[in-house]
Amino acid sequence: MEGALEYDARFVGQFWPAKFVHYLIQSAQNNGVLLRNGVHIKRVERLAIGGPFTAWTESGEKITAKIIVYATNGYTAGILPELKGA
Ligand SMILES: Cc1cc2nc3c(=O)[nH]c(=O)nc-3n(C[C@H](O)[C@H](O)[C@H](O)COP(=O)(O)OP(=O)(O)OC[C@H]3O[C@@H](n4cnc5c(N)ncnc54)[C@H](O)[C@@H]3O)c2cc1C
Repeated sequence: MEGALEYDARFVGQFWPAKFVHYLIQSAQNNGVLLRNGVHIKRVERLAIGGPFTAWTESGEKITAKIIVYATNGYTAGILPELKGA
């Protein structure tokens, strides 16, 4: 993770969040991940077991994906109603 950590004795133990995030973004893109910003997902469905997921955006756009990671913190119940109150 080149550049994310600074080992200069004056700064030992410091972590650079911006460099870390920049590295993660570059690494994801280098591995074929398409990043989209400012897209609100309303609903996710999977029509067949083992098949792709379909995510519907607020504007009605349809995004298909083999894998879905819900990194939505405390807002996940907005997409997965079964988590309401959990
Ligand atoms: C005021 C405040 C100060 C904090 N200070 C610190 C600190 O100093 N140090 C520290 O370590 N932690 C701090 N935290 C905690 C830290 O912010 C969280 O632990 C961290 O951001 C969680 O990261 P996350 O990626 O899991 O979720 P988040 O950062 O909450 O990211 C979730 C993302 O999901 C998106 N999302 C939600 N629903 C949808 C949807 N339907 N479609 C598309 N996107 C969606 C949201 O827009 C958001 O961008 C602080 C938190 C708060 C509130």
